[in-house]
Amino acid sequence: MTTPGHYRTAVAIVGGATAGAEAAEKLSAAGALCAVFEQNDRPYGKVEDGLPRWHENLRLKEYAAIDAKLDRAGVHFIPRTGIGHELGFGELVDGWGFDLVLLANGAWRDRPLPVLNADTYVNRGLIYQNPFIYWFNHYEEPGYNGPSYAIADGTILVGGGLASIDVAKVVQLELVARALWARGIRQDLLEMETEGISETLAKHGLAWLDLGLKGCTLYYRRRIEDMPLAEAPANATAAQLEKVGTVRRRILEKAQSKFLFDVEPLWTPVGLLTHGDQLDGLRFARTRLDETGRAVGVAGEIRNVQAPVVISSIGSIPQPIEGLPMDGELLRLEDLDLGAVVGFNNVFGCGNVVTGKGNLVASRRHSAQVAARLIERLESLAGAGDSNGRLTEVERRIAERQKAVGYDGSYAAWAARVSPPTREP
Ligand SMILES: Cc1cc2nc3c(=O)[nH]c(=O)nc-3n(C[C@H](O)[C@H](O)[C@H](O)COP(=O)(O)OP(=O)(O)OC[C@H]3O[C@@H](n4cnc5c(N)ncnc54)[C@H](O)[C@@H]3O)c2cc1C
Repeated sequence: MTTPGHYRTAVAIVGGATAGAEAAEKLSAAGALCAVFEQNDRPYGKVEDGLPRWHENLRLKEYAAIDAKLDRAGVHFIPRTGIGHELGFGELVDGWGFDLVLLANGAWRDRPLPVLNADTYVNRGLIYQNPFIYWFNHYEEPGYNGPSYAIADGTILVGGGLASIDVAKVVQLELVARALWARGIRQDLLEMETEGISETLAKHGLAWLDLGLKGCTLYYRRRIEDMPLAEAPANATAAQLEKVGTVRRRILEKAQSKFLFDVEPLWTPVGLLTHGDQLDGLRFARTRLDETGRAVGVAGEIRNVQAPVVISSIGSIPQPIEGLPMDGELLRLEDLDLGAVVGFNNVFGCGNVVTGKGNLVASRRHSAQVAARLIERLESLAGAGDSNGRLTEVERRIAERQKAVGYDGSYAAWAARVSPPTREP
């Protein structure tokens, strides 16, 4: 830890992953004391628990980048400290003496499936994407005790974005791996993700039809050309939109030909099929696009689809934190570029918690942009320095909390201590 009294400003960062680590690096390089509060043991966020585990190289690269940004002078990592849980948001903003609070806590709440009473059936036929991918990424670790899901043939999936394609891939890969295992064949799942299902089966002298599987089906409320699998430029012309539509179709076709899942466009879920206390499938209404491009229902065209499991993958939104203003699903902001939160002059947001969607590059870029603007603010606040011992008190509180969670101040030692046990072969 730096000599007490060395800093002139202090920033609390909530979340230590891609966006939080980027901001910590930039703000500490500008001389601010950065306290990074992370709810988990490890700071890798969606890189570890959101991206399916076949992205092995990307994950290792991102882990190393996050580690390097957190393990540096001026950055104080505080694990096992969820804001709104172990430490209240009000206490963080008003109680510790920080100049600024920067939210980098991502989007960890699944957007609720918009069908009346759907959430009554969570884990009774209905699964949401975030816990599902968490399970997929971790269930092979020895001692794993998180959520547990049985993979079922005939699963239906509601979605349409890139994440929902990943969910469809997980279901298909798991189904095939299990079908092969039932035939005495042990198939590495990550290898199958690289090769594709048909090629893998051919290697074993089999074809998809031999397995007798139905596979999983993705339902999307718009057309395939509208799937958010590739971004259209802002104010796109009709020709540009047509081109993006073709790219989207190609991306989907490639994924389907490799992983053999079905897609049903232009259907939206409108009701639940239930049996006792179990969800048994969904009722879909046919849609069409109106003249403004909105999906609207086609009167009288309804389809009931029985399914052992329904997975909803329709987007992730920030988890509400008590005391933090929200506008419906999103943070209430007065300036998106700066991530300034309405009602505070010292609370900002960056990365997924603001953008709601996006990717690693977008999260990092937004965080760097917010950090650059905050550095200007910190310069104007630096005058007072630590004349009243405020920053020394912040450092004392950080050390106290780190001690309480068993973190001895060495990031590298902590990282080694909390890395998960290696997977069973
Ligand atoms: C299925 C799926 C596939 C994806 N594939 C790709 C891909 O191939 N390429 C790509 O670039 N992007 C991909 N993404 C998107 C990418 O993972 C995210 O955009 C990015 O990781 C978000 O980074 P972030 O730092 O903003 O948020 P997060 O990674 O979510 O980090 C938020 C951090 O804050 C912590 N936190 C949350 N709440 C609190 C709290 N109350 N107190 C303290 N800490 C808290 C969390 O534990 C976490 O560490 C994918 C996402 C999903 C879901």
